[in-house]
Amino acid sequence: MSATAGDGMFTRHPELPNLIVTRHPLLRHKVTLLRRQDTSKKIFKELVDEIAMLLAYEVTSDLGTESVSVETPLETTTGEIVRGQQLTLVPILRAGLGMVDGVLNLIPTMRVGHIGLQRDHDTLEPIDYYFKIPLPLEESVFIVADPMLATGGSASAAVSYLKKSGARTIRMMCIVSAPEGVRRMLEDHPDVPVYTAALDRELNGLGYILPGLGDAGDRLFGTE
Ligand code: URA
Repeated sequence: MSATAGDGMFTRHPELPNLIVTRHPLLRHKVTLLRRQDTSKKIFKELVDEIAMLLAYEVTSDLGTESVSVETPLETTTGEIVRGQQLTLVPILRAGLGMVDGVLNLIPTMRVGHIGLQRDHDTLEPIDYYFKIPLPLEESVFIVADPMLATGGSASAAVSYLKKSGARTIRMMCIVSAPEGVRRMLEDHPDVPVYTAALDRELNGLGYILPGLGDAGDRLFGTE
């Protein structure tokens, strides 16, 4: 998929206006290491932590700040703070859990909600088997986290559940995205920007992203 240059740190795609591909060299380096099939479980988790932290830095780059008075050892001055409690991270179970530590290292006061989704046997639609979000929702900025945006079915459903519960400002954060998933998010939730460290080529017949990195949950948690 052809890309146009953004402001140097981002790539934008004319057909995917909801997508922000972060171009920081450290992110591209770390994603390359993450893709390698011989990357161990320990290093894989450390890389996910680091990438999640760098992505969170980008996702929060336009947050508002509040002026506060601060006493330095020499005098009183005015500083700025971000109210971390007004931010809520929502990992989609299970692989999204792998991104929580990295984000909390950067923003320790951030609240964390959880959404677990599974496919309904009859309708094949994702339904939530776990939904626990810190209240109140209305004033919070939500960052939904999932390392892989594949078909977009889970991401779209997670955002729909959040909106139904009252969330107004939602952003999506993924490490590797497929065009199919980004398009699905654009159709279902054009108001939700998708931040990603890599936009890959396509999905295969089994729903894996190509070239991708395999099953992120399995690689994080050592399952097969
Ligand atoms: N989920 C994963 O973990 N990997 C993929 O490639 C697609 C979905």
